[in-house]
Amino acid sequence: MIASPEQIAGIGFTSQRTRSRMIRRLIDRGIENEALLQVMASVPRHLFVDEAIASRAYEDVALPIGEGQTISQPYAVARMTEILLEDGPLNRVLEVGTGSGYQAAVLSRLVEAVFTVERIGSLLERARRRFRALQYHNIHSRYSDGGWGWSSHGPYDGIIVTAAPPSIPEPLLEQLAIGGRMIVPVGEQSGMQALTIITRTRQGFSQYRECDVKFVPFLSGKS
Ligand code: SAH
Repeated sequence: MIASPEQIAGIGFTSQRTRSRMIRRLIDRGIENEALLQVMASVPRHLFVDEAIASRAYEDVALPIGEGQTISQPYAVARMTEILLEDGPLNRVLEVGTGSGYQAAVLSRLVEAVFTVERIGSLLERARRRFRALQYHNIHSRYSDGGWGWSSHGPYDGIIVTAAPPSIPEPLLEQLAIGGRMIVPVGEQSGMQALTIITRTRQGFSQYRECDVKFVPFLSGKS
């Protein structure tokens, strides 16, 4: 099924006016990338959550998507995307943790192709239906443990991990192109995690910590 223009446009709490308020809040919090702000004003976040909570879709909060997982807060999506795109446009990006599909959807409007992997089958199925309904044809998805990356489509100019591993999975480092950038929240579940940015150079890897964040756990195996 294709989402109708009315569904995409939304009404009331999902209307363009409500979305503009979300965009203004992102600007107030320091998001500057114009293209990204335009994309976040147009991607219908309310179609990435259950209808019962669609009226909250444009609040700056994480929301439940089932299976104990959450759709990331708009600010987290915006900031991570902004950092990923800091050095200019990217061709191929790998996302680990498809979840609702929202982060992949935003990215897909800004890069050439998005490859996204998810370990929970039911979430991936729902996300795929959304990509089809919205005709986001440059998103490719796979049901697997993202700790192994997706080597057949790599190396990637960008890698974004939306669940927190205790340490950076080696295969992801290997699948990062030279000059490529990875953004990943690293740390134990008990506390906060460090949003870590890694760049691959000809000599190796350089990394820095951006800020503390709280993400759902990165788990191994499929479910
Ligand atoms: N990017 C998502 C955020 C979802 S929450 C969105 O925009 O909605 C993080 C997701 O990572 C969850 O769906 C969880 O199941 C998934 N995840 C956790 N560990 C994973 C792993 N090893 N491989 C793939 N997905 C994983």
